Amino acid sequence: MEATGLSKYFPIRRGLMRREVARVRAVEHASFTIDAGRTLGLVGESGSGKSTLARLVTGLIKPTSGTLQIAGQDANDWRGRRGRQLRRNVQMVFQDPYSSLDPMSTVGASIVEPLRSHRATSSFDERRLRVEQLLKMVGLRPEHRHSYPSEMSGGQLQRVAVARALALSPQILVLDEPVSALDVSTQAEVINLLSDLQQQQRISLLLIAHDLAVVRHVSHNIAVMYLGQIVESGPAEEVYTSPKHPYTVTLLQAIPVPDPAKQRARRRIGVRADIPSPTNPPSGCRFHTRCPFVMDVCRTESPDPYLTPVGTVVRCHLHERGIELRGRSVFEAVD
Ligand code: SF4
Repeated sequence: MEATGLSKYFPIRRGLMRREVARVRAVEHASFTIDAGRTLGLVGESGSGKSTLARLVTGLIKPTSGTLQIAGQDANDWRGRRGRQLRRNVQMVFQDPYSSLDPMSTVGASIVEPLRSHRATSSFDERRLRVEQLLKMVGLRPEHRHSYPSEMSGGQLQRVAVARALALSPQILVLDEPVSALDVSTQAEVINLLSDLQQQQRISLLLIAHDLAVVRHVSHNIAVMYLGQIVESGPAEEVYTSPKHPYTVTLLQAIPVPDPAKQRARRRIGVRADIPSPTNPPSGCRFHTRCPFVMDVCRTESPDPYLTPVGTVVRCHLHERGIELRGRSVFEAVD
């Protein structure tokens, strides 16, 4: 999957004539690539545009501008026969398994539904075998096909949602905060399941989360979003060990350290908690209203993407201009 300059604006209309009075810039100029069999972790706070980006790459909404390619094919138009093929190739798992599965249908019926609608299997026996195979793949038993959602736990339901998404053997799975509605131990189970599936099936994953800790062990690459823009991206290990954008640093600092002494000794950069509205984002760098390192230039000029020596791409004037904080990197200066 290759996205180039993807943007999505939602108009706000008022009055009798429904005249456009403002625009919510939910996603702006997002570019990224997910290679076959790799995982991109997309992180950011609520309201950063992650879910809108997920809907753009699954064809649920149309981009305002930009291009999307999937397996070398143009994926900007999801209508007709080509759209049907794209939908087979790119499947989505939603955040809340309780509302994404029909409470009146058995697990088996929910998994069979995409097979039926895409006419992927011909006989009852073939469908039953496929359902059992999918349940096994996600760590459930064949008998679970007779269960109703109300009889299963949150973790089991999310496994069912993954099984249904895998039914058509897609090349890409988009997971929109798949573990945020689950308790911590179940989160680990589902993340491990995704990691196993990714390795066994050689499937590409776009894994969306608001917490960097969730995506760390599964992702090959990470992209950090803030107010609709990708502010830092690159190989996962580099983003974790050598973050260059002050916002990435604050997200990393939000991950608790198991050792209380180390946790207390940590130096933190203080950021204001309130996120500006995407309807009227700040001028220049969108993070400037919260950034403790803000300079005059940050208020007027939007930083261009800058390729750092460690192979990450960052949107920040500090690095663009070769400025270091007290002679050290942002991360070293604060942690
Ligand atoms: Fe902070 Fe300026 Fe960098 Fe934005 S461009 S993150 S305001 S230092």
